[in-house]
Amino acid sequence: MQELMLQFIDNYWVPSQNTLSLPVIDPYRQQQIATVTMGDADDVNAAVNAARRAFDGWQALGGRARGAYLDAFADALADRREALMRLSSTNNGKTLAEAGIDLDDAIACYRYYANQARHLEHRQGRLVDHGMDDVEARVYEDPAGVVGLITPWNFPLVTSAWKIAPALAAGCTVVFKPSEVTPLPENALAEIALEVQLPSGVLNLVHGNGEGIGAPLTSHPGIDKLSFTGSNRVGEQVMRAAADGSRSVSLELGGKSPIVVLDDADIEQAADWIMAGIYFNSGQICSATSRLLVHDSLADRLHAALGERIDAIRLGDPLDSDTDMGPMSSARQRESVEDYLAIAAEEGLLVVRDASHRQLPEQGEFVAPSLYCDVPTDSRLWREEVFGPVLCSRSFSSEAEAIALANDSDFGLAATVISDDTERAKRVGRALKAGIIWFNTEQIVLPEAGWGGFKKSGIGRELGPWGLSDYLEVKHIVGPR
Ligand code: NAD
Repeated sequence: MQELMLQFIDNYWVPSQNTLSLPVIDPYRQQQIATVTMGDADDVNAAVNAARRAFDGWQALGGRARGAYLDAFADALADRREALMRLSSTNNGKTLAEAGIDLDDAIACYRYYANQARHLEHRQGRLVDHGMDDVEARVYEDPAGVVGLITPWNFPLVTSAWKIAPALAAGCTVVFKPSEVTPLPENALAEIALEVQLPSGVLNLVHGNGEGIGAPLTSHPGIDKLSFTGSNRVGEQVMRAAADGSRSVSLELGGKSPIVVLDDADIEQAADWIMAGIYFNSGQICSATSRLLVHDSLADRLHAALGERIDAIRLGDPLDSDTDMGPMSSARQRESVEDYLAIAAEEGLLVVRDASHRQLPEQGEFVAPSLYCDVPTDSRLWREEVFGPVLCSRSFSSEAEAIALANDSDFGLAATVISDDTERAKRVGRALKAGIIWFNTEQIVLPEAGWGGFKKSGIGRELGPWGLSDYLEVKHIVGPR
């Protein structure tokens, strides 16, 4: 078993005064693989103070030098690729392929923001175009300050990269809290900070749960900005905490995203994209397209094609390259999904494939993939984020109905449209209320394109230039020419 994981503050590994600890569990073997220390408000305070001391120096370094550190982070992650994929798979239950995507997207993000940091330096002090000949106006973008970053467990490396990389590129210093469920992969970031000789205090990593670290971090007056990815329940608490002191807050929250299959779609191709949209990472994806909307004329054949594919999914050891789907990331998440399956039974939902129809591996926190059809729009499974391998389907008879059903949700994170007619797919996509809409493809994530949601899916955008702006304050200097 690995040793107790310590706090990383001011470039030192330090024990917490809090004597509580939590086991870190391998959800396939159902064994403890490490112990994570449960930090407390004193650890948060020490980390915020370290980040504050480091701030002026890190800002003064400039974008070019900060970009070099971010490139070094990307290189160091790439050097650890195999080991990190295994660690992530073991801690998270992800298949190796899913762990590879988490890591590769994270590396791409560090590289993208390394470039953005250099562009930032280049554009500092540029002239503002305006109509007054005798007035000079220049624009600067300064870092927001000391930022508190909080992430969930489903894609540990990528959700943290989407915050840490732009924050460091902007010149902010960071106090970062990973999920207590999957602290192992992100602990590597502290090792990398030491390896690349990141200046002390620029990146601090504090382990603990919501009560011990999350709440003190969000309410700490020394934090200038908060960025949170996780559930709506906690996101709203974070927003309330940010209201004290009128601090800026960005939220990446839940989703209940639609996938729309129009009447001219190729059924076999559509079935492949639908499978990838909901069963990838055992359904634990914020952008999971968990509401299938299919034209009446295709529904039966599409459900049959999906049923065959669901039966072919191989559940098993996530470290085995033959495995398609690993266990849920924790016993708690398995129980939460099972609760929804019980609700589906109570609601009398029509089953195409139900999770109890197949034998599960002898060990592991598994939930088998399921598919329900003709799901009423007032079903809890249609409206709430399940965060598991559960697909709900209903059919429509016109494009207008499909758009109305797709948009009838509290969330608006993502959507997919499938049609043989590309222009039609894009037109329908344009009518959907979501931050990212894919047409005729699996879910492609580009560091250059924004990520974030309409409605209850969040506030703000990560990735792209928007992800960097989130950590910048705009400053104009104006006077006589
Ligand atoms: P969660 O909200 O339970 O926990 C997220 C983080 O918040 C964890 O680090 C947790 O320790 C911390 N936390 C808990 N209580 C806190 C408090 N009072 N104050 C501050 N921090 C606190 O979410 P989860 O179960 O880890 O993740 C699943 C959720 O994340 C899903 O809803 C999913 O949709 C969402 N998610 C969204 C995106 C996105 O980009 N929109 C990406 C990934 C996951």
